Amino acid sequence: NDGLCVIVDGAWQKRGSGRGYDSLSGHCTMIGTNSGKVLDFSVRSKFCQVCDIANCKKATPKPHNCNINWEGCSKAMERDMVIEMVSKQEKAGHSVSTIVADDDTSTISRLRSVVNPGIKKKSDRNHVRKNLTSKLYSFQAKHKSLSKKVIAYLQKCINYMISQNQGNEEGISQGFDAISLHPFGDHTLCNPNWCSHVEEPLKKYKSLPYGRPLTDSALQKCLIDFFAELKTHSEKYATLGSTQANESLNKTIASKAPKAHFYSGTSSLYNRVAAGVSQKNVGHSYISKVNKKIGMSPGQYTMKLAILRDMQARKRKAIDIAMAKKAKIRRLELKAQRTQINMSKEIREGTCYQSGISSSSVNEDVIEEIPAPKASPFSEPLTVPAAVKPVFFDLESTGLGNTFTNIFNDKLRIDVYIKCCIKTTVSV
Ligand SMILES: [Zn+2]
Ligand SMILES: [Zn+2]
Repeated sequence: NDGLCVIVDGAWQKRGSGRGYDSLSGHCTMIGTNSGKVLDFSVRSKFCQVCDIANCKKATPKPHNCNINWEGCSKAMERDMVIEMVSKQEKAGHSVSTIVADDDTSTISRLRSVVNPGIKKKSDRNHVRKNLTSKLYSFQAKHKSLSKKVIAYLQKCINYMISQNQGNEEGISQGFDAISLHPFGDHTLCNPNWCSHVEEPLKKYKSLPYGRPLTDSALQKCLIDFFAELKTHSEKYATLGSTQANESLNKTIASKAPKAHFYSGTSSLYNRVAAGVSQKNVGHSYISKVNKKIGMSPGQYTMKLAILRDMQARKRKAIDIAMAKKAKIRRLELKAQRTQINMSKEIREGTCYQSGISSSSVNEDVIEEIPAPKASPFSEPLTVPAAVKPVFFDLESTGLGNTFTNIFNDKLRIDVYIKCCIKTTVSV
């Protein structure tokens, strides 16, 4: 009995625009990792309809059950709710040993000082990945060779390394060292378990441009510094959790209290969050149970529908699990396709969308779009006379010009019909 491991995640009733969150209300849920059930939830609101109407009339509000339970800024709501829920568990005699949360809040330090100094923190896998990726993109301004493709490759390496080394701090630390060398063709720190280059030094890199290792030494220095900094937090990367359960619960709650509508002014919001939580814990039949409890008919059809909905949800979940791998591969395929199309379009159209583009010194009259190619290439059938023997070879190149001139400059007058299969589609 080592105490509870809980996942906490909060959400606001208004979509955050990245920096300033000014939502009038927010909720937070706590899910146990073992049971997958919601242990507790909490709602904070800064607004009360009764008080507001009285304010407008410049009168004192009539006695009411005021909805306001938060005065501070919206960002601090989540921290307050987490502390409230954890201390409630502690008071009930259930010690909370580990908490899984995203990296965005300063919750954990507050929890340690207020509730339990020994509480452990796990970061959410997806948030950690997202932060690492945006850090990599921030190096792009300085290092031109750090293209989208290279970042995708580094991302893949990091993700793989981190998930392989869960619970192994040492492994994470070594992994970061290896990743700072491996893409540059140095495999001294690589493990033959995951790096096939150890045994085949000349093997091509499938996901790097032209299949060759990176050569930019300035970039390597930058990456080495970056990974050295990450190494100091290897404990964090060795123990990752996931707040996915809460995110799916937040979706359910958002279906009960859509963000486009305003429920924060009354207790309606609390009830709607509670409905979402009940649906997560007991399934759709919660409606009948509530009806029964308040002395109403549970509803024959309501019960039937609830059973059907629960069955559908279970089926959907089973399909999702079975198809997870296939779906992921397809998703990556589609993403690669989209990136390719976008890249060629961006080159022709110029940068259109980028933060602060309207304030930078781009003269609109100078912008000229490169027209789309008029005729797209198509394949023509090749007729080979019976007297000659066709030779097929793969040029492995995107530029045809040089290869052809080399062949004909050599004045090797061989009657060769060349049929080339161009694998790479767009050269950038
Ligand atoms: Zn009030
Ligand atoms: Zn390697």
